[in-house]
Amino acid sequence: MDKTERKNGFSFEFFPPRTEAGEGKLRRVQQRLAALNPEFFSVTYGAGGSTKDGTRQLVLDIHNTGSSVAPHLSFGGSSEGELKALLEQYRDEGINRLVALRGDIPSGTGPATQYFYANELVEFIRLHTGDHFHIDVACYPEIHPQSESYDRDIHFFKKKIDAGADSAITQYFYNADAYFHFVDACRKAGIDTPIVPGIMPITNYAKLARFSDSCGAEIPRWMRKRLQGYGDDSESIRAFGEEVVTSLCEKLLDGGAPGLHFYTMNQAEAVEALWQNLSLSTRHQGQ
Ligand code: FAD
Repeated sequence: MDKTERKNGFSFEFFPPRTEAGEGKLRRVQQRLAALNPEFFSVTYGAGGSTKDGTRQLVLDIHNTGSSVAPHLSFGGSSEGELKALLEQYRDEGINRLVALRGDIPSGTGPATQYFYANELVEFIRLHTGDHFHIDVACYPEIHPQSESYDRDIHFFKKKIDAGADSAITQYFYNADAYFHFVDACRKAGIDTPIVPGIMPITNYAKLARFSDSCGAEIPRWMRKRLQGYGDDSESIRAFGEEVVTSLCEKLLDGGAPGLHFYTMNQAEAVEALWQNLSLSTRHQGQ
């Protein structure tokens, strides 16, 4: 099958919880979402204050439930030896998929922090573990905030694919045209791997606005205005968010997106609602 036609691309992302209560809650969330039969779960690395040990533990917990799981990975402050050991551990434990990232430098770590582009990490993984892992990388339909230009960002995205990445997951966005335009530009640049849209459900406007400003994801003005207008009315924010994100996902799937990767924020409800609105259990099984 042509890589661009791979269809079973539905996945759920978690971050490692920082408290025992959070761990207990996430176990229940993971059970509920496992019932939807995603292709895989993924677990962030070092993001949002989560620790590397937390990522590894959560990855193993999910793996032990029988679900497929992909750890996110970046060099961070690790040495090559430490990273190689971690890759070998994952391989020996039966993990066969990774999301390879440069990662964001945590504030306060200073300029001495080691800093590798994701294409170098993909090369490193292929060098030390051959074809064992399916490697996903990140890409940015609205362009990475540190990128010099649209074309340069696609040029560097292609370097990750040329280094051996198998597929990509996008940063979230709320404008379907940004995704379609980006996919077209990637195809013209010779990138033929699946590009799965990352989907961020909307449940809390203040948090979403803060996060979007820092990662360069645009919340269209009309959406900001509607969301701001709801003030503290969380039920209206949730209902509006569900409607807008359902419609976005419909456009993406109807336009040929090869799946969806949900940024769950460790919550089940919003993703389950989207899944049901989109009749994904039926679409998914029919593939
Ligand atoms: P890169 O692909 O290395 O690109 C980073 C920037 O450098 C871009 O502007 C690019 O154009 C430029 N560039 C790339 N290669 C080169 C090169 N060789 N020379 C010069 N410039 C170059 N962050 C976390 O900390 N933990 C996570 O678990 C995590 N998970 C994520 C999952 C997804 C699906 C996405 C979309 C993002 C995730 N992030 C995570 C955020 C991500 O780490 C940041 O967006 C980071 O700033 C860039 O990572 P990258 O892998 O895309 O970097």
